[in-house]
Amino acid sequence: MKLATVLRELARPEEERAPDYDFDLIRELNEYLVTKEAQGVRSSGSFNPSGLEGCKRALAYNYLKAPVNEVNHDPRLMITFELGHYIHERFQDIFTRMAKRKGWDFIPEMRIIRTLNPWFVSGRCDGLFVLPTGKEAIEIKSIHKDGFNRLFDRPLYEHQYQGNCYQGLLKVNRMHYLYICKDNSQIKTFVVPFDRELFNSTMGKIERILLKLQDWRLPKRITPDCRDKKCKFLSVCWDESQTVERLLTDETRKELEEWKPVIFHRSARKAA
Ligand code: SF4
Repeated sequence: MKLATVLRELARPEEERAPDYDFDLIRELNEYLVTKEAQGVRSSGSFNPSGLEGCKRALAYNYLKAPVNEVNHDPRLMITFELGHYIHERFQDIFTRMAKRKGWDFIPEMRIIRTLNPWFVSGRCDGLFVLPTGKEAIEIKSIHKDGFNRLFDRPLYEHQYQGNCYQGLLKVNRMHYLYICKDNSQIKTFVVPFDRELFNSTMGKIERILLKLQDWRLPKRITPDCRDKKCKFLSVCWDESQTVERLLTDETRKELEEWKPVIFHRSARKAA
């Protein structure tokens, strides 16, 4: 609403305003937080570093842009996500100012573009410092007290899996994992050098998926009867009519036909 409209509305006498609407802030908020707009849609058509540790079949569906189940996070979970985003943004803002003061550069949300790497990975690293001595990457993680107290000498494995992928694709030797405790504002950092072996095994996992898709096959389910209720591909996973052939678009088909593995030799295709 434009400012002039708001001011005109405020200037109107009470009795001339629209009939009372029973405005209940909590109800309005809960109603909004379960809408598609509030829940957002994760990017598909690529491999995202934050999900690479999970189910290969789900990763394949994400690449194929397979139909997803209706997202239905409860409002409380959505508030937790929103607070996590807010903490990220505030720290990115702090790092931008901190870098400026020192004459460095800080790039928040450093993008990984799917067309610029051979594995169709897309994502955003939380930040990249460009110092006179080189680049230093940052991953920001907000976490509850119990999880925070369990962190000793290294980041959580799933976070390192994700961060190491950014390191390899952005060619950064050091990743700083910053953990912020949501309950008492304590922080911990872990600095982890790039792990080439882990990177190759992560990209190798993507290559195995792509090799399968080139043969119009899907990776196996995690377990023969996996019906993970939280999986957004649960319906498509158990719908036998949703074959690779059916899910492929002309664009994906062409992309897969032209794709060549970097880590695996073609002779590994059968073993994949
Ligand atoms: S339902 Fe299970 S096996 Fe199927 S895609 Fe989801 S997590 Fe993977």
